[in-house]
Amino acid sequence: MCGIVGYVGDNSASPILIDGLKKLEYRGYDSAGIAVCRNGKITTVKTKGRISDLQQKLDEVGTPQGSVGIGHTRWATHGAPTDANAHPHSGSSGRVTLVHNGIIENASQLRFDLQAEGYRFASATDTEVAAKLLGKIVDKIIADEGKPDLFKAVRRMARMLEGAFTILATDCRQPDIVVGARHDSPLVVGLGEGENFLGSDVAAFVAYTKRAMEVDQDQAVCVSADKVIVADFNGNVVENP
Ligand code: GLU
Repeated sequence: MCGIVGYVGDNSASPILIDGLKKLEYRGYDSAGIAVCRNGKITTVKTKGRISDLQQKLDEVGTPQGSVGIGHTRWATHGAPTDANAHPHSGSSGRVTLVHNGIIENASQLRFDLQAEGYRFASATDTEVAAKLLGKIVDKIIADEGKPDLFKAVRRMARMLEGAFTILATDCRQPDIVVGARHDSPLVVGLGEGENFLGSDVAAFVAYTKRAMEVDQDQAVCVSADKVIVADFNGNVVENP
């Protein structure tokens, strides 16, 4: 398993995400990437190789500005270590973006079903299946309820996935939250002052805060700069998580 990091706050997300990914390098990886939200837009930069390769790419294309983002180091299980297979992956409208550690066992069937509905894939990963599925669920929630609800959408997606996953997701229509979910793979939240962090382990954010909270098995978490809400996949909110 490799690394996941998320940030929501007032500071520039990119350096915090890169720093967190560096702290998770010991877990092993073959690719790295970040996605940052700003002004209703998500900018993704990703590459095969080392974090130094990602840094070089960021220097070339410009480091995304914004104070909400997600980052990932990948250990390939579905598809070769290539730029296209590196995370983050997006839903078909490009508004929803996610990173994933683990293996989605029913990805082939889900991909087949989504392809039958006309969804097109840019990678060979199981993760992009989750991204397309999440985008579809968010679209359905908007059609039904008139507004996006990423927290609800991630919980609904999590109920449909089999296998092991830690997932972090963003939606540029809800630019002040990052939503996470976990099953058989770890996820911790770092609690700061006016900022919060997510990581596959505390090393990702220990340089910024010493206060941390573990997300339990089969729980989802909605993190903003000053609030952390935990719920099970059916939406039952966990008091005092
Ligand atoms: N199964 C995913 C992939 O191959 C994620 C692997 C991981 O980094 O944990 O892209």
